[in-house]
Amino acid sequence: MSYYLFIFVFIIGLCLGSFLNVLIHRLPKGEKVFLDRSKCPHCGTYLKWYHNIPLLSFILLRGRCAFCHQKISLIYPAVELLTATLLLLVYLKFYYHLTTFIFLAIYLLFGITISFIDLKTKEIPDILSLPLFFLGILFSSLGHNPKVPGFELSFISGLAGIGLLFLINEVYYFLTKRDGIGMGDLKLMAGIGSYFSYYSFYYVLLYGSIIGVVSYFIHRIYQKMMKKEKVEEAEELLKTEIPFGPFLFIGSLLYLFFH
Ligand SMILES: [Zn+2]
Repeated sequence: MSYYLFIFVFIIGLCLGSFLNVLIHRLPKGEKVFLDRSKCPHCGTYLKWYHNIPLLSFILLRGRCAFCHQKISLIYPAVELLTATLLLLVYLKFYYHLTTFIFLAIYLLFGITISFIDLKTKEIPDILSLPLFFLGILFSSLGHNPKVPGFELSFISGLAGIGLLFLINEVYYFLTKRDGIGMGDLKLMAGIGSYFSYYSFYYVLLYGSIIGVVSYFIHRIYQKMMKKEKVEEAEELLKTEIPFGPFLFIGSLLYLFFH
């Protein structure tokens, strides 16, 4: 394998990440995803094409809008870098079969978009979570899924994913009289099931919970240090809704790479 190919995959990843940014910022607002050029979130000026080059423009403009010079969120370059890095990692591990690489790349793109939208809005749009279930079944049925040999296991695992999170939510509700897991998480788990089978659930939930708890405490410490919000307010916020989608996604990636 040549290094040029790695660089090519990475650049493709940056461009895809740039498109995911559009989805992440426009889908929750119900805005047009295609056929509308990017504008600055502060001053609303339409960006020129050379203000819109993934990563490069952000660095050259030092993270500020070319027109109003307001700071641009670090989320934009972060999504681009993350997408490129994960795509390259999937390529390095699964380059041997194009179908496998493509289906796992699609999983990545959906997962990253779902994670950032869930973090922002505490909701996962159906248009992102439901296709994963069917894509996973198609992927497994084609016989190129390294984790699931065929249709049957994929289909059953998808349904089992919904069932398992439903059950966990019932127990949580019984203990706390609150819903802990959203409908979006259930549908995402169906996708994780059809892609990685129910054998993955133990690890996905284990890794997801550990990373979730650790990030919760880092977030708490950060808030206390910055005194950004009153602690009670922050506690109230975390009591009501914790976006679980990103942690399920990270758990599923760890399972994909290490099991
Ligand atoms: Zn601006």
